[in-house]
Amino acid sequence: MNMELLQYLPRRYKGETVYSMAARLVLNDISVSTSRSLQNVFHNRNLQLDSAFPSFIPALAEKMGCSCDELVQQHSLFPYFSVFANGSAIRRALTALLNGESSVAYKALGLLASRLADEAYLKYCPVCATQQKVAYGETYWRREHQLPMVNVCVEHHCKLIQVSRKRKQLLFPESDKPSNYDIDVVEMKLAEISTGLLSSGHFETAKLLRGYAARLFARGLATTKSVHHGRWFNEMFEYFSLLRAHDDRVAQLFSKQSEHGFPANVFYSDKSSHHPIKHVLIICFLFEHFGDFVVNYSNASTITTQQSKVKPLKQSEIDQARYKRVIHYLNQNLSLRQIVKNANVSAATVRNIARSQGITLTSSKRKINDGVERLITIKLMVGWPTEVIAARLGVSKSDVEQVLSGHPEIKALRQRIRHYRKRHESRDSLLETVAGLSDLRVKHLKDRCYRDYMWLYKNDRAWLFDTLKQHSFSNLKS
Ligand SMILES: [Zn+2]
Repeated sequence: MNMELLQYLPRRYKGETVYSMAARLVLNDISVSTSRSLQNVFHNRNLQLDSAFPSFIPALAEKMGCSCDELVQQHSLFPYFSVFANGSAIRRALTALLNGESSVAYKALGLLASRLADEAYLKYCPVCATQQKVAYGETYWRREHQLPMVNVCVEHHCKLIQVSRKRKQLLFPESDKPSNYDIDVVEMKLAEISTGLLSSGHFETAKLLRGYAARLFARGLATTKSVHHGRWFNEMFEYFSLLRAHDDRVAQLFSKQSEHGFPANVFYSDKSSHHPIKHVLIICFLFEHFGDFVVNYSNASTITTQQSKVKPLKQSEIDQARYKRVIHYLNQNLSLRQIVKNANVSAATVRNIARSQGITLTSSKRKINDGVERLITIKLMVGWPTEVIAARLGVSKSDVEQVLSGHPEIKALRQRIRHYRKRHESRDSLLETVAGLSDLRVKHLKDRCYRDYMWLYKNDRAWLFDTLKQHSFSNLKS
């Protein structure tokens, strides 16, 4: 017989990090230790898998059956860290990265000089992780969640869970963790901008700075001749007060003793690269959302500062006004698309604000009020079938399902409730049948209550066999 071994390529998920893929490969190699697996898979037992610029890209590309370029552009943080660097620096860094010289790559992009450390944590979204587990039977790390200053999931608007890195332990996100939706506008904005940068291509420094200058002028933070450094610093200092409190790098950037002179120092030399977090902070402060920044950048060559004379406003006032505008439109029941257009904000911002206000975004008008929604939620929690809830409360089944879709944790709870209910019924039915049997043979029991027997056999086998033994059934297999 001619047996041909099929070579299956390992799985690679959309937006998965290179760490995630490498860790899975190492984990799937059955060895006595992680070091031994590292040796087997990558021929290096001391390899550091979780670095932002890992040295194993060529080896991983070979294992995954794809190009180095695909891994770098679609699965590594390189596009983020190089988005503001100049062309020759990017080429030098990329060559170094593919030669396994991580520190040379960092240096080429100006990341060492800025003394801003790597992320201390691996991060994941609990909703994403649970969805991954359901869809693929395993979880993986998403690239956009590993970016500096990103603490929320842009897709699900909840806080990311942080996991401390461990050098000799391979880590994966955990599914079924509770989600926390208590996030603020600045956090959401930072996540949107940082994620946008992953796929935005490259920004030319001179044009970028012209765009910043025009916006600073419009905000009264610059004249046509110079930037008001002190005032700019103070406004940003205040705007990022929350972030400064829980992100050491940001606190360090704004430390008043610092000789670096952020934010004005981005203007000093357009030859050297700055750490992307400096630009992300400036963009977040100066622009309404990522799209606003990109449009401003594209027009930067034609902007003259004279064109943009408007009354200067603090960014926090602008955010506040925008927030009110969005709530106003939400209360008018406008569709997501209309609000994005009318309020000049991104869809993610609208969803975020809607969630913080407890408003459900629907394309059509909401049919049920808050009181009814609460009643539906309670009945869903205690496991009532959706059609029964609909009939009792006089709403449609799809209204009930809509409420349920907003509560993944209740969905899981309902599955558990159904399971226990079914177990209770099946055990009762089986015991009743046993009591009525004169000849205690498994075959007879099965004939009388086949469905319950099979359900218990699949889901509750230990109890089933214990019960059969207790009743001294003959011809038991185990
Ligand atoms: Zn998510």
